[in-house]
Amino acid sequence: MKIVNKIADVRLEVGNAKKAGKLVGFVPTMGFLHPGHISLVKIAGENSEFVVMSIFVNKLQFNDLNDFNGYPKDLERDIAIAENGGVDLLFLPDDKEMYRSNLTTVDVDLITENLCGAHRPGHFKGVFTVVSKLFNIVQPDIAVFGQKDIQQAVSIEKMVYDLNFPVKIIVAPTVRESDGLAMSSRNKHLSEKQRKEALSLSRSFAACEKLIDSGERDAEKISESIRAVILEGSPDSIDYISIVKYEDLSYAEKIDGKTVVAVAAFWGTTRLIDNMIIDKKDDGYICIY
Ligand code: AMP
Repeated sequence: MKIVNKIADVRLEVGNAKKAGKLVGFVPTMGFLHPGHISLVKIAGENSEFVVMSIFVNKLQFNDLNDFNGYPKDLERDIAIAENGGVDLLFLPDDKEMYRSNLTTVDVDLITENLCGAHRPGHFKGVFTVVSKLFNIVQPDIAVFGQKDIQQAVSIEKMVYDLNFPVKIIVAPTVRESDGLAMSSRNKHLSEKQRKEALSLSRSFAACEKLIDSGERDAEKISESIRAVILEGSPDSIDYISIVKYEDLSYAEKIDGKTVVAVAAFWGTTRLIDNMIIDKKDDGYICIY
């Protein structure tokens, strides 16, 4: 694995890979790597021959400075995990390398209005701007994003479509701990008690799946049952429990076609998000979480 800090070096290495006829896969991250990130690398490797990962904690996408300052970091560990995980080129830019005048931004309307978009002002603009920059720097053929951040993944699919980026987006399944907690760099901030309580998020999806299997389609009833299960885990607050259509993330009144159930809640100052996709299968629905 090669490690580079400069944009010019990324271009050189990716240029060489492309000259050798290789397809380039890309996994952007903010580091503090866990098996969820590495699952994306694996999928990138199955769909390309040269895998680039970036680690950059993008200040532009943090609407809370404390959250930015407290974001977990362990670069040495990340380098070892990336290398073992099959990354070919690791891009570690600093702020000076990434930020220029910051006068140009990229945003995606409508589908960023609900869910996290409603609770983290400016967050997605920061994400789309940095992802656009990274796409222009790396020029990948494919890029992999996690279902874990479903609003990000769906909006980036839209951004790539609207702005004609020549990159194929793959959305990868959420990787969970054995007890069901979705892996996240932020889990590190949870106390043991909070971590146990936060299992109510994935438990709420199991309850939701049962309801769907029993034929319930009403979004409000499903939301209520999810809320009841999440409250069993005594979160400090619930940001949202939303049932939205997959294609544009607009609110759904009932399950009718591909749908997303997305939740966000705080334990202490740690904000956790999780989601489940409900998709049509045969005569009924399948729940993916
Ligand atoms: P982050 O470093 O948190 O910005 O995440 C980088 C990428 O990894 C994003 O595409 C995330 O959706 C994805 N990701 C984070 N956690 C998981 C997980 N538990 N399973 C799968 N993908 C994940």
